[in-house]
Formats: sequence, C-alpha cells, structure tokens
Amino acid sequence: MPMQIDLGPTASHFREEVRQWLRVNRPSNVEAVQSEIIGGGPDYDDWAKRLHEAGLMCVGWPKEYGGRGLGGVEVAVMNEEFGRAGLPRATRGMGEWLVGPSIIVHGTEDQKAHFLSRIVDGTDRYCQGFSEPDAGSDLAGLKTRGIVDGDEIVVTGQKVWTSGAHRATMMFCLCRTDPDAPKHRGISYVLLPMKKPDGSSNGFELRPIRQITGNSNFSETFITEARAPLSNVIGGVNNGWRVTMTTLGNERGGNATTQHAQYERQFWRIVDEARRLGRADDSIVRQELAWAYTHVEIMRFAGLRTLSEVVAHKEPGPAASINKMFWSEYARDLNEWVMNLRGAHAMVRPDNEGYALDRWQSDFLGSRSSTIWGGTAQVQRNIVGEQVLGLPKEPSGDEERTR
Ligand SMILES: Cc1cc2nc3c(=O)[nH]c(=O)nc-3n(C[C@H](O)[C@H](O)[C@H](O)COP(=O)(O)OP(=O)(O)OC[C@H]3O[C@@H](n4cnc5c(N)ncnc54)[C@H](O)[C@@H]3O)c2cc1C
Repeated sequence: MPMQIDLGPTASHFREEVRQWLRVNRPSNVEAVQSEIIGGGPDYDDWAKRLHEAGLMCVGWPKEYGGRGLGGVEVAVMNEEFGRAGLPRATRGMGEWLVGPSIIVHGTEDQKAHFLSRIVDGTDRYCQGFSEPDAGSDLAGLKTRGIVDGDEIVVTGQKVWTSGAHRATMMFCLCRTDPDAPKHRGISYVLLPMKKPDGSSNGFELRPIRQITGNSNFSETFITEARAPLSNVIGGVNNGWRVTMTTLGNERGGNATTQHAQYERQFWRIVDEARRLGRADDSIVRQELAWAYTHVEIMRFAGLRTLSEVVAHKEPGPAASINKMFWSEYARDLNEWVMNLRGAHAMVRPDNEGYALDRWQSDFLGSRSSTIWGGTAQVQRNIVGEQVLGLPKEPSGDEERTR
C-alpha cells in the first residue's frame, strides 16, 4: 500500500465529510457516468447537476463567484476521495480547469462576477480556440484576426482540433488584434459566444474530425465575423499572451496533485487482467508491473510537491511541463505494453459489427494523443530545458516559449 501522508486535522475532518457524502449519494449508474466523461451525455450531466446542488463544483474558486473557497489541500483531499470511491469528480471541463483560473488571475471584477458563476452553474460550456492549421506548437504564429468595431470585437479565422466544440456554448479564442506588433504581442484573448441571442450561429461552422477510435470529439472550426462585446476580452486588447500563459500552465500542471489517482486505478485493473490471463507470475510481466507502479508513485510524490506550491498560491509555471511530459509519455508506453500483454486478442474488436472498442483498446488508441495535446512532449522538453534548467535557447531565437 502507498505511504499515507498526514495532511492535518482540518483536512482529515473534511475527508470524513466528503467520504460520508459520497457514501450516501453514490449514483447507481457509475459505469454509465464513467463512459460519458469524454463525450458527455445525460448520465454525466445528471451527476454534475447533483454535485452542483451539493456545492461540490469549482470548489477551489472564491465563494462570491459560486465556488466553495476551499484551499489547495482540501481540493486535493476531495479529489482523492472521489478517486478512492471510484467516482468521477464531474467538472465544468475547460471552463473550470482552463478559462476560469485565467479569468480569476487576469479578469476585472465585473468579468469575474459575470463569467465565473455562469461556468459554475453550467450556463456556459467552453471549448478552446487556440490551435490553427499553421499554429500549434508555435501558437504565437496564429492568424485569426480580431478587429475592434466600436464597443465590439469581430473575429474571423480558422481553428483546428477544437475538443468538445459540438457541446460548447462559448469559445476562449486567441486572435491577432495588432498585425504589426511582434508576434507574442498584438494577441487578444476573447470569450466568444458561439450563438447569437436569437439562437442562430455567431459565425461558427464546425466540421467534426473522425478519430481512430471512431469518435468525433473534436472539430475544425471556421469562424466568420463572430462578434463579442469588448468586455469579453480578458486581460485587455493586445495583452492576451499573458493570459494564454496562465491557461497553458493550468493545462499542463493544473491536475498534477491528483494525476496519480486515475493511473493507480488503472494499474490495479492491469494487475487483475494479468491474473485473469494467467500471466501474473511471469517474471517479465512482473518487472513491467513494477515499472508501472514506480511511475504511479513518482506521480503521487510529484503531486505532493505541486500541492505545496498550490498552498503557497503560486500559479503553475514552466515546471508544470515536467508533469505533462511525465504522465503523457508514461500513458503512451504503458498502454502499448498492455496491448502486448493481452496478445493477439487485443487486436480483435469485441463485436463483429460497427466499430465498438473495448476499454483497453480505447485507452491504447486515446493514449497516442496524450503526448500531443496541451503541447507536445518535444516542446515540453524545450520549456524545461530553457526555463527550468536555464539551458541555452533553441536556435529559432523566439523571445518567448512556444506552446
Ligand atoms: C486529442 C487532441 C485534442 C486537442 N484539443 C485541442 C483543443 O481543444 N484546442 C486547441 O486549441 N488545440 C487542441 N489540440 C491541438 C494541440 O494543442 C496541438 O496538436 C499541439 O499543440 C501540437 O501542434 P501541431 O499539431 O500543430 O503540431 P506541430 O506544432 O506542427 O508539431 C509537429 C511536430 O514537430 C515538433 N516540434 C514543433 N516545434 C518544435 C520545437 N520548437 N522543438 C522541437 N520539436 C518541435 C512537435 O513536437 C511535433 O512532433 C488538440 C490536439 C489533440 C491531439
């Protein structure tokens, strides 16, 4: 069993409270809720609604914006308890993890009051409009234009890989508002409504991209003269890069304190599978399992280190890239090894019709993307080399980091 760390009496009291709530409120359809985590669905929405009613949504946000004002340790405890109970901690997705924390740091009081509570109660569901066909790792090379027109901003351009766009009502979108400025300046961070008040599209056209899993969780997004009030620009016109850095820091490191929980659960599923296959006594299999367990434990300890930074109210900085690099490469390698463990059987679809995959196959195919989204593993290495270790900059001479 992993070593337990005593987080003090307040945390342990809170732990008991969460445990008790989960015992009483455990949904009967956990499998259905789990299966809807990525693509969404009524069971997940229902679970999210119950958590919201119990005040368990966006719990780390200040109370005046609809959160619960919990400290970093309590949030980590809550996540741990959900993990232990095998229940998904339904969240408000990118609204909660990416754009909300960026509004908290860079938004005006009016923006915080307006946008944060709409994320907490589920009114606004966000997707991320950062990547473009020629601006992925080199995010600051983006070309989508934003033109200020009176008290509005008008946005036109193309985004790609927009996860969850088909379920979103808002996009946090980067656009170039000053084409003459150096590329990291002259960018604005806009909260764009995807529909007009009359329900018609606000200049958005989505073209879903079909993935190797058979699902279409993301789209190409074409934006033609989408309008938003200037009050939807976070951090000020032409000042979006700073806000972007906060968003990317959270994307890479925001889950560092709880990352190990899902991999710990997966580890024990793999042990069960190895036993079921009669392979658990094979010394090579045991060696691989030991390798996996060690990685999960490293994630747990790295999470505790991050927790001490969270407690000190530090934003996730460049060191968050270590977290992103570590878990994503582990997930890729582990899932490939699990396919080998399962042998030829792993290549067979469980049904003879359609494209349904079992959980192992879907984990394997999904894990191939983990070293790409949120910034590739190669780019994370550059960030760690240059900004954490202080090594010389890469020859491109870019003044600030790429994605
Ligand atoms: C599953 C998934 C979901 C995604 N969801 C979203 C989303 O919701 N919103 C969004 O905006 N984007 C999203 N993305 C896009 C993602 O952020 C980009 O794919 C990623 O940043 C890489 O950009 P790129 O695909 O253009 O690759 P490129 O930047 O073209 O990179 C190609 C290759 O070159 C390497 N490379 C590039 N520059 C360097 C460098 N300086 N040093 C060393 N190597 C380098 C990269 O590591 C990579 O191997 C998603 C991607 C995936 C796979």
